[in-house]
Amino acid sequence: MVQLTLGTKRTALALYGVLLVLPTLVLGGLHWRQLVIDHETMLAVVPDDAQDAARRLQNSIQDDLNDLIVREGERPFYEYRDSYFPPGSLGGEISLVVSPLKSTAPPRGILGWFSHSVDEPMHKLPPKVIVAGRQSPARELEVRTAIQFAALELQRQTTTIWLQPNTFLGRWFTKDESFTVPVLAINLADEANLACVGEEMPALRNFQAEKRWTHVSKFLVQFYRESDGTPRVVAWREVTIDGDPRLRKSTSACLAVLGSGIHLRQGFLIDPNWLFRELPALWASRVLKVSQTFIGMDATPIPGEENLESFRIQPVRALNLITRKPGDETYGEFRIAVNVKELESRFRTQSMRFLGVAAMLVVSLATGMILLLRSVNRDLEAARRTENFVAAVTHELRTPVAAIKLYGEMLEDGWVDDPEKLKEYYRRIVRETGRLETLVENVLEKSQLARREVAPEPGDVNEVIASLAPSLSSLAQGGVKDLEFEYGDDLPLVLLIPEGVRSIVSNLVENARKYAPVGRSSPTPEPIVVKTHVLAGNVVLDVMDRGPGIPHAERTKIFDAFYRVGNEKTRTARGTGLGLHLVALQCAAMGARVAVLDRRGGGSVFRITFETTNEPGTVA
Ligand code: ADP
Repeated sequence: MVQLTLGTKRTALALYGVLLVLPTLVLGGLHWRQLVIDHETMLAVVPDDAQDAARRLQNSIQDDLNDLIVREGERPFYEYRDSYFPPGSLGGEISLVVSPLKSTAPPRGILGWFSHSVDEPMHKLPPKVIVAGRQSPARELEVRTAIQFAALELQRQTTTIWLQPNTFLGRWFTKDESFTVPVLAINLADEANLACVGEEMPALRNFQAEKRWTHVSKFLVQFYRESDGTPRVVAWREVTIDGDPRLRKSTSACLAVLGSGIHLRQGFLIDPNWLFRELPALWASRVLKVSQTFIGMDATPIPGEENLESFRIQPVRALNLITRKPGDETYGEFRIAVNVKELESRFRTQSMRFLGVAAMLVVSLATGMILLLRSVNRDLEAARRTENFVAAVTHELRTPVAAIKLYGEMLEDGWVDDPEKLKEYYRRIVRETGRLETLVENVLEKSQLARREVAPEPGDVNEVIASLAPSLSSLAQGGVKDLEFEYGDDLPLVLLIPEGVRSIVSNLVENARKYAPVGRSSPTPEPIVVKTHVLAGNVVLDVMDRGPGIPHAERTKIFDAFYRVGNEKTRTARGTGLGLHLVALQCAAMGARVAVLDRRGGGSVFRITFETTNEPGTVA
C-alpha cells in the first residue's frame, strides 16, 4: 500500500511537472531572456541614437546659416547703400532706387550690414553701416557701434591677407560680373555728395557703353569676443572692381576713383543669439526624440544629469567659423542628453509585470499541485478503504462461516451428547448466522440507502427509541445491564424516518458495546446512555459511552464508508467500517446532523441533531 501510495504520487507529480511546470518554466525563461536582450539592445543603441540626433541638429543649423550666407552672396555690391543706381541706361536725370536693406524686412539672424573701401583709411572715410530693421535709438546705436567695430577689427586683421589679390583672393572670387562705368561710378560715389556725379553727366554718358569687371568673393564667417566678452559673429566678403586708366585723368573725383580700381569690404553682423540659442532650440524641438533632451548653452545642469548619457556640440567648431583667440571655438556649447533612466524604469516596469505574472503562475501551479495531491490522496484513501473493506468483509464472512461449519460438522458427526452442550452449539450457530445476516444487511442497507429516497415525516423520537429499547437491552452480554435510556420531556416533533432512527440507535449502541464495553476497566462501571433532550431549540439524541473516545483527526473520517480507525492487522474489534457511514446516510436522509464529541469525564458522545417541524410536540 505504501509503495502504491508513493508510486502513484510520484507518477502524478512527474506528469504534472512534465506537462505543466516544465513548459511554464521554459516559456517563462525564454520570455525573460528576450526582455533582458531587448533592454540591452536598446541601451546599446542609445549612444548611436544620440549621436545621430546631434548630427541631424548640427546639419540643420549649418543649413540655415548656409542659406543665409548664400542669399546674402547673391546681393549685388551696390545694395550696401541707402539707395543705388540700378544697371540700365542713364536718362536725363539720375533716378535712384531705395536699397532692399532699407526697404524690405531684414532676413532673420542679421543685425546689420557694412561696406567700406579697404584702400581708404577708416578714420577718413568711416564704413557705411545699415542697421537691420527698426530699432530703438539705444539699440540702433549699440548695433551700429558693434558693426563699425567689427569692420575696423577686420581691417586691422586682414589687411595683410587681402593685399595679395593674386594669390589668396584669386581662389575666393566666385562671382565676376561686368557693369557699365556710369553704374559703377554712381554707386561708388559718396551718397551724401552725388552732385559730383551730376556734374559729370556728359562724361558719364560717354562711358555708357564701357563696362568694367567686378569680382566678388565668397563670404567668410568669423566668431570673436569683444574685450568685455560680448560674442560677435561677422560675415564678410571682398569686392574688387577693375580700374580704367583713362579715367585717372578725369577732373571729376567720382570718375577718378574708377581710374585705379577699387577694393571694397562688405559684410554683415550675425545675431549670436539667433545662431547659438534660437536655432539650436528650434531644431532640437524638431529633430530630437522624446527620450532626448536638449540642454542649451545657458541651461543649468539638470538634476541627475550624471545619470544621463550626453553629447556635446560646440557650434563654433561644428560650423567651421574662423576664430581669433584660442578657446573661442568652445563658445555656445550645448548638449543632447539621453534619458537612460527612462529606459531603466521601463525595463523595471516590464520586469515587475513579468514577475507579477510569474508569481501568479507559481501560485496557480502550486494550487494545482496541492489540488492534484489532494485528489490523489482522496483516491488512495478510497482505495485503502475498499481494501480494508474487502479484508474486513472477508474476515467477517470467514469467521462465522468457519464457526458454523465447525459446529455443524461436530453435530453431524455426533460428537456432542450432552444436551447442554448441544444447546450451546445450536445457540452459537444461530449467533454466527445472525452476525452474517447483520453484515449482509449492512452492505445491503448501504447500497439501498444510496439509491432510495424516502421523505422524512414528523414523528416522536422518544416513541421510536422506546419501541427498540427492549430488544437492544436484551442483547447485553453476560446479563450485565449496560444500557440506559433517558427520554426528554415535552419534545417537539421532528422530521424522521422511524426505520432510520432505529438503525442509527442500533448502530451506535452496538459500536459503544464493541469499542467501549461497560465494566471492563472501571471499578464503578457506567452504562451506555441513550438520551433525548432539547438543546438550543433542537431535539437531540445522544449515545454516550465511557470508552476511549475518538481522536480529533479521525472525527470526520469515521463517517466515511469503510473507514475504520487504526490498522486492520492490529485492530481487535471486528467490523466493516460501515456502521457509522450508515448512521451518517440515515441522518442525511432525515435532514439531521451527526457529530462525535468528547464526553466530560471521558468517552464519546455521538450526537444526532434533528430537524424540528412546526407541529406541537407529544410526550412519549
Ligand atoms: P466498524 O465498527 O465496523 O469498524 P464503524 O463505521 O461502525 O465501523 O466505526 C468506524 C470506526 O469508529 C471504528 O473502527 C472504531 O474505531 C471507531 N468507533 C466507532 N464507535 C466508537 C466508540 N463508541 N468509541 C470509540 N471508537 C469508536
